[in-house]
Amino acid sequence: MTTIIDGKAIAASVREKAASAVADIKSRHGVQPALAVVLVGEDPASQVYVRNKHVATEKSGMRSIEHKLPENTSEDDVVALVRKLNDDDEVDGILVQLPLPKHISSDRVINEIHPDKDVDGLTEVNAGRLILGKEGLVPCTPQGSVILAKTVTENLSGLNAVVVGRSILVGKPLAMLLLAENCTVTMAHSRTKDLAAVCREADILCAAVGIPRLIKGDWVKKGAIVIDVGINRIEESGKMRLVGDVDYDAAAEVAGAITPVPGGVGPMTIACLLRNTVLAAARRRGLGKVEV
Ligand code: NAD
Repeated sequence: MTTIIDGKAIAASVREKAASAVADIKSRHGVQPALAVVLVGEDPASQVYVRNKHVATEKSGMRSIEHKLPENTSEDDVVALVRKLNDDDEVDGILVQLPLPKHISSDRVINEIHPDKDVDGLTEVNAGRLILGKEGLVPCTPQGSVILAKTVTENLSGLNAVVVGRSILVGKPLAMLLLAENCTVTMAHSRTKDLAAVCREADILCAAVGIPRLIKGDWVKKGAIVIDVGINRIEESGKMRLVGDVDYDAAAEVAGAITPVPGGVGPMTIACLLRNTVLAAARRRGLGKVEV
């Protein structure tokens, strides 16, 4: 029997844990953790993401601070806002919604965020900490992917993990996190020769590519854990629908466990953002260890 990994339910439990940690911090220290989100421009998808983050943050008991700036805001003005938020003692997490308008360097803006408030885990400092195995803030989607895999088998040690995709946002940090779980990690990408053969070796197969149903059913080893990060909007039989990077129906026939799209990795991203904000608040304010 294939286990369908229920990302919605697992994300709900991560959110609940974050909410009880927030309640605990409030009652013991009289502090309400706060997340500041910066949105520049009118991108409709970004507006939806920011709205969802706002609702989830407030639901968890944290304070949500939104900064919506017009499309024509200068790079210097965005940097100035980030610096102001860095200096604001009431702000625990800062998230700059990507993509930024073309005239603004996201690299410069992201790296202005104080690493200890970088709840997206995208600054060079946090990327370095991840590689060095030091405590830091880890990008949300890869973190969520590993949490999902661990609901199938708590101990991933020694398993062959294949990560398809090497983006800064997902593939690379995911490979590092799996390495930290003592997996034997292979990173595959667009130049990989015989991707099918590489995937067939995977006990844990993670796809973060952005190509609908790239990974075929016969690329999946029997019993493997399949984590599909891909979110692709396609038109099928005259309807728009979301599909992953894995051919779900065929892969589910052979996999031991698999994440659906939607309802797999997707919901974990915001849940892990809340988790990171609580962690950032506790560390930055010296509140000791929190259970999240
Ligand atoms: P990206 O475009 O930055 O990176 C894609 C990677 O795939 C690249 O490293 C490239 O080398 C690799 N690739 C491209 N073509 C390939 C091929 N034919 N074979 C093997 N590898 C190939 O994308 P990303 O930001 O990493 O996102 C990947 C997918 O994950 C997208 O569908 C995106 O929508 C989704 N995503 C989901 C979440 C979420 O669940 N919350 C978050 C981020 C990204």
